[in-house]
Amino acid sequence: MEENNKVTNVDMQGNVQNDMNQNNIAKNSDGRKKRRVYNYKNKKQNKNKRQEQNQAQKRVQKQDNKKSKIQNKNQNSRENINVQNDQKTQNKLKSKKSAQKQTKKPITKNKSIIDFHFKPSKLKIIALGGLDEIGKNITVFEYENEMILVDCGIEFPDDDMLGVDLVIPDFTYVVKNIDKVKGLFITHGHEDHIGSIPYLLKQVNIPIYGTKLTMKLIEHKLEEHKLLNKADLHVVEQGNVIDAGKMQVEFIRSSHSIPDSCMLAIHTPAGVVIHTGDYKVDYTPIDGQMMDLGRLAELGNQGVLALLADSTNSERKGFTMSEKSIGPLFDRLFEGCKKRIVVATFASNVHRVQQIVNSAVKYGRKIAISGRSMINMIEAARELNYIKCPDDIFIDIDLIKNYTDDQLVIITTGSQGETMSALTRMANGEHRKVTINSNDLVIISATPIPGNEKSVSKVIDQLMKIGAEVVYSALANVHVSGHACQEEQKLIMSLVKPKYFLPVHGEYRQLMAQRDTAIELGIPKENIFLTNNGKVIEMDEDKCEFAGAVQAGRVMVDGLGVGDVGNVVLRDRQHLSSDGLIVIVMSIDQGGTVVSGPDVISRGFVYVKESENLMEDVKSFIREEMYVMEERHVTDWSSIKSTLKDDVRDFIFSRTKRNPMILPILMEV
Ligand SMILES: [Zn+2]
Ligand SMILES: [Zn+2]
Repeated sequence: MEENNKVTNVDMQGNVQNDMNQNNIAKNSDGRKKRRVYNYKNKKQNKNKRQEQNQAQKRVQKQDNKKSKIQNKNQNSRENINVQNDQKTQNKLKSKKSAQKQTKKPITKNKSIIDFHFKPSKLKIIALGGLDEIGKNITVFEYENEMILVDCGIEFPDDDMLGVDLVIPDFTYVVKNIDKVKGLFITHGHEDHIGSIPYLLKQVNIPIYGTKLTMKLIEHKLEEHKLLNKADLHVVEQGNVIDAGKMQVEFIRSSHSIPDSCMLAIHTPAGVVIHTGDYKVDYTPIDGQMMDLGRLAELGNQGVLALLADSTNSERKGFTMSEKSIGPLFDRLFEGCKKRIVVATFASNVHRVQQIVNSAVKYGRKIAISGRSMINMIEAARELNYIKCPDDIFIDIDLIKNYTDDQLVIITTGSQGETMSALTRMANGEHRKVTINSNDLVIISATPIPGNEKSVSKVIDQLMKIGAEVVYSALANVHVSGHACQEEQKLIMSLVKPKYFLPVHGEYRQLMAQRDTAIELGIPKENIFLTNNGKVIEMDEDKCEFAGAVQAGRVMVDGLGVGDVGNVVLRDRQHLSSDGLIVIVMSIDQGGTVVSGPDVISRGFVYVKESENLMEDVKSFIREEMYVMEERHVTDWSSIKSTLKDDVRDFIFSRTKRNPMILPILMEV
């Protein structure tokens, strides 16, 4: 790796040298040290930028040749991104050429002007989410006064976030800098990459770029939030380069557990940065669309400043199996099976669904779908022709009674044991359309996401108790991951040969594991950066370092409330949920004398009827307390309240060793 790096540097310098020679050779025939003269506009054009533009131009031209049909289609679509880009790139190149021509005139007379050497500004990379956690991925790339965002996802709440529906990133930094933001670029359509888009768009409206399926899913989401009308959405193709001011974003075909996934090459004047998004290296993808390893190698050879890479599976050795390895297993389970087959998997795993469809077609079964997200996903995928099947293979779930068990497959959500999901309801006998019985073969084609293990095993237990046969990942290889293991990570690092390496998308130990892999490959330790959400990393060819921090964190969403549940509310909820509540109600007059009460009400603390004595004791304790305070002329309500709270808490703890929340309510009469 180190050697490769050296080669790259030499290569790049070689290129730069040649380039400079061409520009100056005519005038500098005296053989003195060659220098370039810039007019004001030209100051911003440096060696890297030139390279980027040449690359971008080559790329665009290549696409022109290769994909003229697709380009035409694009022209008809609502945004002619390609064409615009093409023209922009061409114009830029033209203006650059003319600028270079101008510079050929005045050279050697004024040395102070000639001595000017322009150095590109530094590129800032700030993750606002996705580090030290799985979820809510969002990264800011900032060059001079311009910014782009990559991904905008949600995170599912931890067990201790009681009542919280989901967690989104803190968008403060983006909102504050909205004038700089050129666009949001999405790598793929998983929730941890697109889930927060509606919440961001409610605060700021920015253009969003993504591939077909990704944008379809975003559209659904925005429609649910009634934001679709004003949204500025752009469908791009894998291979496109989008102009975002001083930065250009190139979508590179990748492979993952959802179709249309991309890596992004972000071309900036400070250098090229590659963001892998989520990926695995699948040499035999279901749709035959192999990851564009060639392009990564090409960029690697031209020189890549930094690589941000998916760390999810970085603790695992070896390779992730190809998605295709699942197909034969389905066939084996389907072959000769007399039972009804129920398959639970992730809705977004279109390729998995395709393989279930293939087996169903092969063994003459019809398919019914259960679960809203599965229905939506299959609908979207079929609309885009991403699921290939005979038209009549899917039937309405209401019609399953018209078929015998061995003529049916039901594809369902709930592979994670989610409480409200279709499979969980089936297991609990609460599903209105499907009743599981001993003539069912249930295949759970997924592994539990960390944290979901318990609920998944509960569902499996329940299904088995009903008598169903259950096949799950611990018993058979009915699932493969969508993320790269160590050997795949090594491949990407070797192709890209980044100067700086930033493991992303993972919990701390996963980031650390990928760091170790990078070191093993010869990336110097000091060039690997484990960063935190909110930390600013500043880099250029010479240096990469931490440079302060911006506001980042988690914002909790509970029902319609965004951010109104904070740590204080959560603490209260935890306190209430673990110890219950005691409310003390009484009326007092201005002198502090108790006029009526105290009444003591408890919830989630003790069953009052069986603890009447305790409650009576609490009451007399309060009466005494109030009497003492009256004697001392304590009439300030807040001191009465806090004294009561503290003393009643101590009293109850001494009697019960419990710590309920105590809430005094005083009324003045
Ligand atoms: Zn992800
Ligand atoms: Zn993903």
